[in-house]
Formats: sequence, structure tokens, C-alpha cells
Amino acid sequence: MEEVPVKPLHISENARRVLEARYLRRDARGRIAESPEDLFARVARAVAGAELRFGGPGAAARWEGRFRRLMTGGYFLPNSPTLMNAGTALGQLSACFVLPVPDTMEGIFGAVRDMALVQRTGGGTGFSFSRLRPAGDLVASTGGAASGPVSFMKIFDCATENIRQGGKRRGANMGVLRVDHPDVLAFVRAKLDGVSLQNFNLSVGVTDAFMEAAAAGRTYPLVHPRTGERVGRLDAAEVLAAMAEAAWACGDPGLLFLDAVARANPVPELGPIEATNPCGEVPLLPYESCNLGSLNLARLVRGDGTGARLDRRRLRRLAAEAVRFLDDVIEVCRYPLQPLAEAAAATRKIGLGVMGFAEMLVRMGISYDSDEAVAVAGDVARELAEAALAASRELARERGPYPAWRRGGPAGDVPVRNATRTAIAPTGTLGIIAGTSAGIEPFFALAYRRRALDGEILTEVNPLFEAAARAHGLDPRRLVEDVRRRGRLSAVPDVPETLRSRFVTALEVPPERHLAVQAAFQRHVDNSVSKTVNLPPAATPADVAAVFRRAWELGLKGITVYRYGSKAGQVLELGAGD
Ligand code: UDP
Repeated sequence: MEEVPVKPLHISENARRVLEARYLRRDARGRIAESPEDLFARVARAVAGAELRFGGPGAAARWEGRFRRLMTGGYFLPNSPTLMNAGTALGQLSACFVLPVPDTMEGIFGAVRDMALVQRTGGGTGFSFSRLRPAGDLVASTGGAASGPVSFMKIFDCATENIRQGGKRRGANMGVLRVDHPDVLAFVRAKLDGVSLQNFNLSVGVTDAFMEAAAAGRTYPLVHPRTGERVGRLDAAEVLAAMAEAAWACGDPGLLFLDAVARANPVPELGPIEATNPCGEVPLLPYESCNLGSLNLARLVRGDGTGARLDRRRLRRLAAEAVRFLDDVIEVCRYPLQPLAEAAAATRKIGLGVMGFAEMLVRMGISYDSDEAVAVAGDVARELAEAALAASRELARERGPYPAWRRGGPAGDVPVRNATRTAIAPTGTLGIIAGTSAGIEPFFALAYRRRALDGEILTEVNPLFEAAARAHGLDPRRLVEDVRRRGRLSAVPDVPETLRSRFVTALEVPPERHLAVQAAFQRHVDNSVSKTVNLPPAATPADVAAVFRRAWELGLKGITVYRYGSKAGQVLELGAGD
């Protein structure tokens, strides 16, 4: 294999602040004891340690060098826990876990304990609460009334609030409840007060039958989770409207399309998938985990302007190396609980994805709001998925398939090393470290304040935009000042159309386009796609309901919307002025 030429990643001021605050190792007196380069070297060495088990010291040294170049070159970054914990005593490297919540006191409080043990290592946790009996139901041992899932979720929420993950990362949770659970409406409205469940993202688990009933104006049955009895009926369209109204008001809940997830489950014989990790990009079985990594698309553009295009060869080569990296992560990861270690070993799920999609489009002179952008999305996703599959097959030849693999299963007859290989993560922090746009999202704004690291406010003006403005002969200082105040270009008079369309921002991109980009990625990605359909403040609950219906029609696995301004203290705010 050819060596990846290394043009070192430029570490921006913001990246340095993030790295110093949370990622760089400290000595016993709390002083920073490594540079960003040291960090990448530490991670490369720890992860390549897995190669000793398969190929010996020569292979380990060779892969250590390659892994280091992937990171120092800014081509690839693994998820935050790997950057923080590789080569340290903690050694837990995965970002995503799902834990079961059985309908017993032991089960529920066991899950709270397991959650605490995972979150203190920097991992995020997802749960299905669908098995819990509804509020008011009989508790046999005491003759009292059950509290119901929403009430128990508040205990998980409170525990998360108090863990703070060793000071490194706030805990993040996903709570899923099936739409046929009798408490579904309480769940849908659980975050409307603006104070409850702030450490949770919520997703209603909906079925095709439910979405069809909503479209046809029919009712659907509520099912008692313990007895399987039908205990009532609700109007499906009204429940969908209630979800849309709550999401309009506070961003939650999203929808998890359970049948789409089931159709893509690579190991249905191990059971149904009922939940995802916190940001939704990885559907997982109970106790499964997934480690993520993202290729930086901004570094994979060849040429400039209209002649610029995706460097496919390099994308494929980097994807192959990244798959190996992530498979090695499973080998060296120290799981905080035995069932987690066993589940990871059985399916070996990894999630290779991308960041910097919006920056890549800008570099190619393509507007995010265009058919071309959707075509590029499909192209990138296909190359990524094919390369990752080929690399995982190659690893299966070398190291054997994942133990739960069986011939003739959903993946076909060719053994693969990893039950899933691709996922599109939000790359909230990785995007800052790599200095590029997050995941597959459009630029949120051209100048904005970012709340990070528990309340600190970082001000950022998009450097690509500054350069482009100059190239158009515009006074960048005046323009940036205007953009700084108004957040986006369409609000500024006298800006050439080419500049405006290339730097289109999240709220200016119509929901249809957001959905089309998400669908283009989802078509090839075997896990799920983290994407927020951003809506302007004036959007209505009916607009949200339409997005939900369209997401289902497009075959997405999940959908999240966010109406600008609907949450106090939102993570990103338009404009850098006040
Ligand atoms: N995550 C978490 N806490 C956080 C942010 C993320 O537990 O504060 C987990 C969660 O499972 C999420 C995944 O990490 O789905 C990936 O998020 P992201 O890509 O934003 O993380 P990064 O690696 O950029 O920090």
C-alpha cells in the first residue's frame, strides 16, 4: 500500500482550547503533559497494539506509523473516548452503548448502575424503556401502583447529571419508547417543561403500521408491555401531531423507524434492535457498543473551483486503513462490564463515517442546496461503504469473521469481520479538532458563538468564507461584520449570487434538501445517519409533521428536527454580535 503523504493538520485556536481542556494528558499536578502530536502518537501506539496479536511486532510498528499519519494529517479522527483514553489506565474507547432496562426493580437500578460505569469512561448510553409497565399498573409485590417509564427515566437523568464523566464529558443518553406503549403521550411531552430529562434525547419507536395508520386517519392499538394485551386505541394522526408539536416546541422527540432498522439488522437471530446510541447514528442490541471514526472530506478534494472533485482513490485507501484502525480498537478497548465485552466481541460493530461534507462542497463550488450536492452525497457514501466492506472482508480473511456471522445471513456468503461498518456521527468535537464542518451538516452559520465545554463561548467566523469574500473583491471586514451581526449571507445586501449559494447555511436550506442529503447517505450506510433537519423560527408544527412523514417515505432509520430558537441556551447561535 502506498504511504499517505502527510501535510500536518493545522490546529486552530479553538481546536487547541478544546484539546487542552479535555483531551491532552495531564501530569499528577494537573499540568498538560502532551502536545496534540503526542496525543496522536499515544493513540496510534495503543490501537496498533492489537496488531501484535495478529501479525507481531513488525506489523504493529508499521500500522502504528500509518495510524499516526491518518490523524496527524487530519484525514481521520476516532471518536472522543479513543482520543481521550487510548493508552491510559481507563482504556475505554467506544462512544456508543445500548443497555437493556428490564421491568424489575433489580433490572432498572442495575441499568442505572451500568449507565454510571459507562458514562464515567466518556461513553454515551441509549435505552429502550418500552419494556417497563405503564404508570398506574399494579406492582404485585407491594400491591401499589407502578411509576411508569417517564418517571424512572428521571432517575437515569439525575444520575447522569451527577456523574459528569470524570470531568471530561457530560453524559449523553437516548431514551426510546415504542409508539404502542400506553404511556407514549406522556413520553412525547416529557421535555416540554424545559427542565425535565435534559440529559436525554428522546425518540419514539414507530412502526410502518403506525405511519400507515397515521396517513390513512386510522386508530392503532396500545399494547401492555408485560402481558401483550391490547389496552386501548389512539388516533395515529393525532399522536403523530402530538410528536410534531412537541418537537416543534423543544426539539424532542425524534422518531426511530423500527421496521427500517429491523430490515437492516445484520444479526436478527440475536434479537430485535430497540434502541440507538444518544445521537441516533447507531442502532444497537442490548449491551452492544460501537466505536466510531470519521474521515475528513475537506481533505479529499482534488483541484480547485469548478475542476475540483472527490479524490476517490484516496478515500478508498483511507477508508481501508480506518476500518482496520476501528477493528483494532475493539481488540484493545477495556469494557467496563463483562456483558459489554462479550457483545462487542460477538458482532464487532464499527461505524466509519465522514465529516467536512459542507466544506468539501464549498471547495468544489457546489451549493448544499442543489441536486449536485445530493449526487455528491450519494457518491461519497457509496465509495465509503464499498471500501469499508472490502476492508472488512479482507480482515475476515486475515482474522476471521465476527463470531455471530453465518453463511447466507443478511450480509450474504462472503465473511466479514464487522457486522456493521459505517455510520455518520455528528462529530461535534471532532469537527472542531479537525477544523472542518460537522458530519454531513451544512454550515450552521458563517459567524457564530458556540457554547462548548460546559458554558464557555467560542466565537468563530468561517475562514473559507473570509477567503472567498476576498476573492470576490469584497471588503471582507465589512462583510464579515455584517455576517457577524446577522449570521448569514442572505440577510446582507449586495452579495453576488454565487457567493450566496455556495455559503448557504442550515436554516436557508429547505427541509426537503436536508432530507435528500440524509437519504443519499442512508442508502449506503449500514448503521444510521446523524442529521438534524433545521427549521426556521416561523416553521409550524404541521411543517414538522410533514418532515416526519417524508423521512419515513424516504426509508430513513430516524429523524431529528430542530426549530431555531426553540430551546433556551442552544448549542449554536447565529451571529457573533449581540
Ligand atoms: N457522545 C456522548 N457525549 C457527548 C457527545 C457525544 O456520549 O457529549 C457520544 C454519543 O454516543 C454520540 C457519539 O458520542 O452519538 C458521537 O458524537 P460526536 O460525533 O458528536 O462525538 P465526538 O467524537 O465528536 O466528540
